[in-house]
Amino acid sequence: MSNAVMSDKKVVQIHRYGSRHWVGDGFPVRNLIPGNSVGETLSPFLLLDYAGPENFSPTDQPRGVGEHPHRGFETVTIVYDGVVAHRDSTGSGGVIGPGDVQWMTAASGVVHEEMHEKEWASKGGVFHAIQLWVNLPRAHKMSSPGYQTLLKRDIPVVELAGGAGQLRVIAGEFRGISETMPRGIKGPAKTFTPVHLYDVRLKAGHATEIAVPTVFNTAVFVLQGGVSVNGSGRVGEAELVQLDNSGERMTLKATDDTVLLVLSGEPIDEPVARYGPFVMNTKTELVQAVNDYQAGKMGHLS
Ligand code: MN
Repeated sequence: MSNAVMSDKKVVQIHRYGSRHWVGDGFPVRNLIPGNSVGETLSPFLLLDYAGPENFSPTDQPRGVGEHPHRGFETVTIVYDGVVAHRDSTGSGGVIGPGDVQWMTAASGVVHEEMHEKEWASKGGVFHAIQLWVNLPRAHKMSSPGYQTLLKRDIPVVELAGGAGQLRVIAGEFRGISETMPRGIKGPAKTFTPVHLYDVRLKAGHATEIAVPTVFNTAVFVLQGGVSVNGSGRVGEAELVQLDNSGERMTLKATDDTVLLVLSGEPIDEPVARYGPFVMNTKTELVQAVNDYQAGKMGHLS
């Protein structure tokens, strides 16, 4: 498709975080989705918690969040600094560090813990990560749980045209617009509905164009630096730009050296019922989730 027939996505709103709170004692987060006024308008993305950057002192008692359940969606943890150790009631577990991603499918239910990794905690340092919750369609909410460790070395890196920076394709596919940019670069994550997730680094004063499908819900979250999106004012640290579903192109102009995350996904057009760590379609299913958890049906950590 040529540039001529593409139109720009319009900026709907620029959101600042809605609340700042601790998840356990390891994750000081700023909530972007569904906080402030985003609500459920970015389906399939249910939650974006931005953790840190925060300096942790050395300890031999790793901080984090202990045993808790999830049902009905996926948790995606992207680590920028620090190391996370995870284990769950299915016997899965793993350690992810800078550049790695953990894509956990809770589906019918898991109980897990998310901790600072022991050796990292013993030295301390800066912790910096994002956790997304990605919804599952009704047909997969009660599927078997699963777990994907996406290591840095398995995530393809696209060199952006003109030396503008780099883009890592975590999920979905990257479609370059410029003729000199590569096409059809696919990310390693297996998803239940179409999701494009890109970790992007842009150099100050450079710009890049990214195309995403028209009807996909799309947002850009800035971790560090600043960027203008389709002519918006500067979007800075911990701010989220929500785009509309009309056009398919976004032009990102970096005012500083910038780290940002592009989230884009096909909306799941089903009712959303939430209660804490459970996201289902109806209240009855939420009651069932609470009962199943309390009855030990989601298991326990051994
Ligand atoms: Mn969790």
